[in-house]
Amino acid sequence: MLDPLGLYEYRAALHVHSRYSDGTGTPAEIIAEAKRAGLDVLWLTDHDNRRALQDPGAGYYGHLLFLVGAEITPPTNHYLVFGPGQLASGREPLQSIIDAMREGGSLGIIAHPDDPGNRTARLPSYRWSDRNVDGFAGFEIWNHISDWARQIHSLVGGVWAALKPFSGLREAWPQTLALWDAWGARRRVVGTGGADAHAAQVGRWPARLTLFPYRVSFSGIRTHFYTTAPLDSDWQTAESQLLDALRQGRVAVVNAARGKELGFRLWAEKGGAYLAMGSEFAFEPGWTLSGLSPVPVYWDVVRNGAIVARKNGTLFRHPIAGAGVWRVTLRRAPNNGVWVYSNPIYAR
Ligand SMILES: [Zn+2]
Ligand SMILES: [Zn+2]
Repeated sequence: MLDPLGLYEYRAALHVHSRYSDGTGTPAEIIAEAKRAGLDVLWLTDHDNRRALQDPGAGYYGHLLFLVGAEITPPTNHYLVFGPGQLASGREPLQSIIDAMREGGSLGIIAHPDDPGNRTARLPSYRWSDRNVDGFAGFEIWNHISDWARQIHSLVGGVWAALKPFSGLREAWPQTLALWDAWGARRRVVGTGGADAHAAQVGRWPARLTLFPYRVSFSGIRTHFYTTAPLDSDWQTAESQLLDALRQGRVAVVNAARGKELGFRLWAEKGGAYLAMGSEFAFEPGWTLSGLSPVPVYWDVVRNGAIVARKNGTLFRHPIAGAGVWRVTLRRAPNNGVWVYSNPIYAR
């Protein structure tokens, strides 16, 4: 069985900080680490600046496509932006930031909506507090650093968690997923995954410890993009292909620590008609939700936030029994943490 839509899949790290904000690597170093980790796309998002557009500049570095977005950073309500347009100021209210970026042609994602902060590590919460806004493209449904911060209750625990950087990555927060599913009932809201890579350093030489070196971050939470044609050799065209996939919800959130394979697909079909992940359509009987995995997995079929079926194997089919926000979760073993979160298909 092949993907009937014939999409092209790319492994990306979204949400990455360099020395142009509070990361510790230069863009050139980070590009080298992304290549070693086997990424296809690296999307840098420094706080409130896109200086990397000048140095070293967006484009292809070997096979790696390097793009420059930003994280607009008010005290809370961090907002990731991808694509062109003048950067809005973090001093504006969130709705003004969203509107300004949208008018400029870029696409915005609410970063770490339920970020907990951490008292032990003296990290304040950067959660999404201004929830009476609209016009953003999506949420970051799984953020590696927020997940790490959630499980630290002591200094020793924090160091241990940093030495075992994938230990906390079991699944996205239920409250964030519930929020995502609730928004999805109103309109398409794209879910993305964030490495939130900083390679932060603690202590001093010779006892300096790098928390989450870039290469480690790039082997954790990734976002896979699905495009209708191979990425163009012109980087600006390639960037608009990726923005289009993001806008349409043709992305999946992948925990690469549990598997780096390409080949996951989700679609809806009826007769000879096929709809890609992210599609919205008017419900009528006869549609089937179908999924494909490169390795045998355990599938949870989720409708409006509730698991309605469990399947296993490389292929599943399940009738779309009614209107709703339909998505799947993949695990490599029944009691494992999550490997992949699809974006939904919306039957209205
Ligand atoms: Zn942030
Ligand atoms: Zn960040």
